[in-house]
Amino acid sequence: MNPDDALDLAYAERDRIACLDLAGAPRAFGWRVELDRAKRRLGLTRYDDQVVSLSRHLIVLNPQSAVLETIRHEWAHAVVGEGVGHGPTWRHVAIVVGASPTRLAHDVVAPPARYRAWCTRCQQVLPGGRHRTSAALRRPTWTHTGRCRGPLLWIDTHNNARAALDGTPLPPDAQAAPTTLDHPANVDIDRQVAS
Ligand SMILES: [Zn+2]
Ligand SMILES: [Zn+2]
Repeated sequence: MNPDDALDLAYAERDRIACLDLAGAPRAFGWRVELDRAKRRLGLTRYDDQVVSLSRHLIVLNPQSAVLETIRHEWAHAVVGEGVGHGPTWRHVAIVVGASPTRLAHDVVAPPARYRAWCTRCQQVLPGGRHRTSAALRRPTWTHTGRCRGPLLWIDTHNNARAALDGTPLPPDAQAAPTTLDHPANVDIDRQVAS
């Protein structure tokens, strides 16, 4: 979806929701909408400066239905206020505003992580990965979970690396492995937690 259209949609939803017969709803009129650069969550509610923030990366990669779901999800947080997380109060309001009462988004396309794990046994690039490197990725202690149990090598997909992050030379199969867009099973829409 186009980010400018997403902003328009978010404000239109704000005005619609603020007029609902719902305790706290008119408060939403004072809130603004922003775009951010998050890669692993779709939205964010900032209570201190009254902002609903949407991930530009995920808007661009996903259809309007997923963006609308996120927008309604965040407005439900704005209406119920801070500290209730995704508990019963929030779930009730989510349903009233037309959002799914869940913290997870399904079938969302996420930007690919720069650092990906390649399994030396089943020779696959694992889904997910890391957007940032760390000392842990340079240690040769990783194994493919589940049935395979093969040793993993971490690859920097932004460089034509000939070695894994731990220094192990990469076989040609790993160098040529596709590291395309991710279709994670579930993405946390945001990180809102109950206090
Ligand atoms: Zn494996
Ligand atoms: Zn949430």
